[in-house]
Amino acid sequence: MAHIIDGKQIAAELKDRLAQDVQALETAPGLAVILVGDDPASQVYVRNKIVACEKVGIKSFESRLPARATQAEVAAEIKAFNDNPAVNGILLQLPVPDHLDSDALVQLIAPHKDVDGLTVANAGKLFLGLEGGLVPCTPQGSLILIKSVLENLSGLNAVVIGRSNLFGKPMAQLLLHENCTVTMAHSRTHDLPALCRNADILVAAAGRAKLVQGDWIKPGACVIDVGINRGEDGKLCGDVDYDAAFEKAGFITPVPGGVGPMTIACLLANTVKAYGLKRS
Ligand code: NAP
Repeated sequence: MAHIIDGKQIAAELKDRLAQDVQALETAPGLAVILVGDDPASQVYVRNKIVACEKVGIKSFESRLPARATQAEVAAEIKAFNDNPAVNGILLQLPVPDHLDSDALVQLIAPHKDVDGLTVANAGKLFLGLEGGLVPCTPQGSLILIKSVLENLSGLNAVVIGRSNLFGKPMAQLLLHENCTVTMAHSRTHDLPALCRNADILVAAAGRAKLVQGDWIKPGACVIDVGINRGEDGKLCGDVDYDAAFEKAGFITPVPGGVGPMTIACLLANTVKAYGLKRS
């Protein structure tokens, strides 16, 4: 039976440390969130982020634009926050309505304020292993969870299912920097179960409910479930068949209460880090 990695608890500890760091700063760091349209899930995410900011002493700035907002209008909002010295971090809540080019908009965010770590400058720094970049929140949080239970990752086989810019690619880079032997799997991968059975660390981020079966898990493996899905019973579930995996794994994250809370905590951590970054 696996040890359950308590993401809620680890995120709470990180937020406590951040609240102390913020108190020691001359002024409050600022995080700006831009929300375009009225997608209910996005509204909940934005609300949660603002509440989390308040709790650690980060000032939040909110910009809500109607679903019909043009590319130029969203771009103007980003530029205004780029120029606002009270704003240290800028987050464009994704997805944006279909008529907008989200990739182009994200690249308008000043790299030193890009708390989602999605600009070319920050992705490049992560790829090259350079200091001073901002790393995407969910993979950063996932690595903290892995390191909370595994002291030394060097030489371990890590399999990351999913190759998105938001998660899979940066997660693989972070594990590579920890000297793991990393395999990135995706929808075209042959014999995914066999690959997973060789994984000391298995990170699932495919967005497919219960894709990873219990007999895909190497006994004692560390299983990080990033997926957020609705199961057939309507309940929230991850990409891993939790009950079956729990019997085989050494360590496992639950959904909810695993990776999710770490994403917000790392967003706050990136905002505090961005406060200390100079324009480059
Ligand atoms: P995404 O952009 O849709 O990427 C999904 C990836 O999974 C793609 O690379 C896709 O392969 C791969 N994939 C899909 N089906 C697969 C299969 N059957 N076998 C192997 N690979 C498969 O999603 P994302 O943004 O990375 O997010 C992934 C999941 O994590 C979602 O459930 C999302 O809600 C969740 N998430 C959670 C948090 C959090 O805070 N907990 C944060 C971010 C994301 P191809 O590239 O070949 O299409």
